[in-house]
Amino acid sequence: SLTTRFAPSPTGYLHVGGARTALYSWLYAKKNGGDFVLRIEDTDLERSSQASVDAIMDGMNWLNLEWTHGPYFQTQRFDRYKEVIEQLLASGNAYRCYSTSDEVEAMREQARETGAKEKYNGLWRDRTDYPTDKPYVIRFKNPLDGEVVIKDMVKGDITIANEELDDLILARSDGTPTYNLTVVVDDWDMKITHVVRGDDHISNTPKQINILLALGATLPEYAHIPMILGDDGKRLSKRHGAVGVMQYRDDGYLPEALLNYLVRLGWSHGDKEIFSREEMIELFDLKDCNRAASGFNTDKLIWVNQHYMKTMEPSYVAKHLAWHMNEQGINIEKGPALEKIVKIQADRVKTLKEMAQISRYFYEDFSELEASAVKKHLRPVVKEPLILVKAKLAALSEWSPELIHAAINDTATELEVGMGKVGMPLRVAATGGGNSPSLDVTLALLDKDKVLARIDHAIE
Ligand code: GLU
Repeated sequence: SLTTRFAPSPTGYLHVGGARTALYSWLYAKKNGGDFVLRIEDTDLERSSQASVDAIMDGMNWLNLEWTHGPYFQTQRFDRYKEVIEQLLASGNAYRCYSTSDEVEAMREQARETGAKEKYNGLWRDRTDYPTDKPYVIRFKNPLDGEVVIKDMVKGDITIANEELDDLILARSDGTPTYNLTVVVDDWDMKITHVVRGDDHISNTPKQINILLALGATLPEYAHIPMILGDDGKRLSKRHGAVGVMQYRDDGYLPEALLNYLVRLGWSHGDKEIFSREEMIELFDLKDCNRAASGFNTDKLIWVNQHYMKTMEPSYVAKHLAWHMNEQGINIEKGPALEKIVKIQADRVKTLKEMAQISRYFYEDFSELEASAVKKHLRPVVKEPLILVKAKLAALSEWSPELIHAAINDTATELEVGMGKVGMPLRVAATGGGNSPSLDVTLALLDKDKVLARIDHAIE
């Protein structure tokens, strides 16, 4: 069946580019009822770490990109790589190369001087008089003529002359396999039918195709996705604040929002912007991916996040908000149900982190009022409206937005001032600042006793 894979090297977080590659591979498998393999390419022992493996899997779990096979680890497959290298040696598709690194460097230099293609000169390609007790690497016997055609689903046909390709090293002198060999063996063994990856790998593809052909393997289809650029046109990196996927959780994005943002970053379907998970699966196709690089745009990500905060089930959004409340040390046990907060705050913020920040007063008393709000609405001291509105609020038979609204209204009428002259001081007193959702709704969500005590505190 159709099988795709995501093959990260565990040398850091799951970053935005990796997450998008994983998403596109996952979508394509899902759409076609196929399999999705997670393969950890951890052969670079110095740069790989368990922490990175965990971070990658956390990121995929948070985005809900579930894999059907794996995770496989390349470090557990060395015997198999060895076996394939032996097979290539036996079939005459690889050879032992005894050239020292100095000799190889000298070949390079000579090539540079004559303007020729820098590559191994094939000195050991057809020799069998192997010396004993000398270190050697194993090189692939790349075809000398003809060409390789990559039939790329995103970029179209790409043709490379074999002349351009080197006899690449398959195994180092310590016997360890190189990247191109391990990828080929894995894609072959794992029956990968579609290789979806960043186009930074495109120069490896003809080499990998040649090895696959030498092994008699069926070639997979390839889809190389263009890079993501920062707002300065350079390849997206940490400098642009593009960090691990989990940082987006910490910053207050919903996973659905990041996923929706990522699917559109390099793919489109007409001018549609919002895609549910089901719609993505149904509509996504590799052949509709952009051929040019895409620019990361935080404003758009925020816009998508706002859309999801406002339109998803409040109870679902509340679950994510609860995480942020906890992060910010806000105890939500006493206070309004979080879904109610979501309903009144969703259209007032960019992120869940911000939603948690501005909702603290629903759960915690405060000793300080916001200085700028005090200056604007409570100085010179506006005791009169607060005293009067407090009396009216205290006397209410029911603590509902309607009656609270009437109490504020009546106070303003009695004092012959506008609603704001009562509402704003009351807002500062009850919430500590000059910004809150509609005052009647906000007060109704707070305990009546709490509101009265906060008014007292502001009057003092
Ligand atoms: N391990 C490679 C990387 O993280 C990906 C290799 C591939 O997709 O073929 O860049």
